[in-house]
Amino acid sequence: MTTQFGPSYVRAIAPYVAGKPISEVAREFGLDEARIVKLASNENPLGVPESAQRAIAQAASELGRYPDSNAFELKAALAARYDVPPEWITLGNGSNDILEMAAHAFVERGQSIVYSQYSFAVYALATQGLGARHLVTPAVRYGHDLDAMLAAVADDTRLIFVANPNNPTGTFIDGATLEAFIARVPRHIAVVLDEAYTEYLAADKRYDSIAWARRYPNLLVSRTFSKAYGLAGLRIGFAIAQPELTDLLNRLRQPFNVNTLAQAAAIAALGDTDFLEKSAALNAEGYCTLTAAFERMGLEYVPSDGNFVLVRVGADDQAGDRVNLALLKQGVIVRPVGGYGLPQWLRVTIGLPGENAAFLAALERALA
Ligand SMILES: *Cc1c(COP(=O)(O)O)cnc(C)c1O
Repeated sequence: MTTQFGPSYVRAIAPYVAGKPISEVAREFGLDEARIVKLASNENPLGVPESAQRAIAQAASELGRYPDSNAFELKAALAARYDVPPEWITLGNGSNDILEMAAHAFVERGQSIVYSQYSFAVYALATQGLGARHLVTPAVRYGHDLDAMLAAVADDTRLIFVANPNNPTGTFIDGATLEAFIARVPRHIAVVLDEAYTEYLAADKRYDSIAWARRYPNLLVSRTFSKAYGLAGLRIGFAIAQPELTDLLNRLRQPFNVNTLAQAAAIAALGDTDFLEKSAALNAEGYCTLTAAFERMGLEYVPSDGNFVLVRVGADDQAGDRVNLALLKQGVIVRPVGGYGLPQWLRVTIGLPGENAAFLAALERALA
């Protein structure tokens, strides 16, 4: 008999598949790196804000020492921005780290976690890594069905994940509906509201989830510097919640989970409202370009409030992989979402105007 290491629930995990790096596609397809367009991981096409680049250069000389474990300055900046005590803030090595910590802090093995079909892959990974039970509710028009999620709550449910906007579908729940949902969740169940794309929301869609964190002791709001703030490679995100939840995360948090450069860059980026506005405007413009082209090409897409669009590239279950390969051969990297149960679709990040044009031209050739 062969020995099998590890618990069965860990062996059952399908590892996260990330967007392909540019260097890998260049090697695989014999392409020039400089001509590859990567629209696969919802990164900010403007790259790192200059304000953050300067902060990173300055902080580099401090790297001989450990980071500030408590991130005093960054927490002070976030506390001032969101008008909450610094004790309500948890920093993560990416918000991914926050989501994992939350699962481990609030849920025991064997208890259950509720999330939606087609929601962010990390919810399933965090649940499985814990040996917890998944209660996955069917999506409605590719988005969360909040009533179904409430109905799915079992006696042993301890956590509900909600992404707004959701990735990979881009669907959005308006603030009033979302707050009404949170108010109905029993108080012994934590709600993690994952708002990785909130900075991209149009003015008339914004809502104040931090005010909800003051009102609901079981709510944890998660944000990231990876998307609109342009710092994906540094790995930094944060959560805001009352001490009941935050204290638990802090017990599990690795002491130096957020590095010195990330802390310095985040402080700079947080104050760089020009960059954020420019990013959101560029995104809104690119969204119009992409969706107008999809309509012209007769391609179904899911209306998105994030910095990406889910587009259906065929009616058979090989379509996503087939068109993805045809795009890769032309040096365009997007995200196949077969792993999410969406094999006929591709997720494309909204890029710079030239990148969007290159993607659309490659897509037309791939579909011809
Ligand atoms: C990108 C993303 C995150 C995590 O990003 P980090 O880089 O780990 O901060 C979290 N949630 C959703 C829905 C995302 O799309």
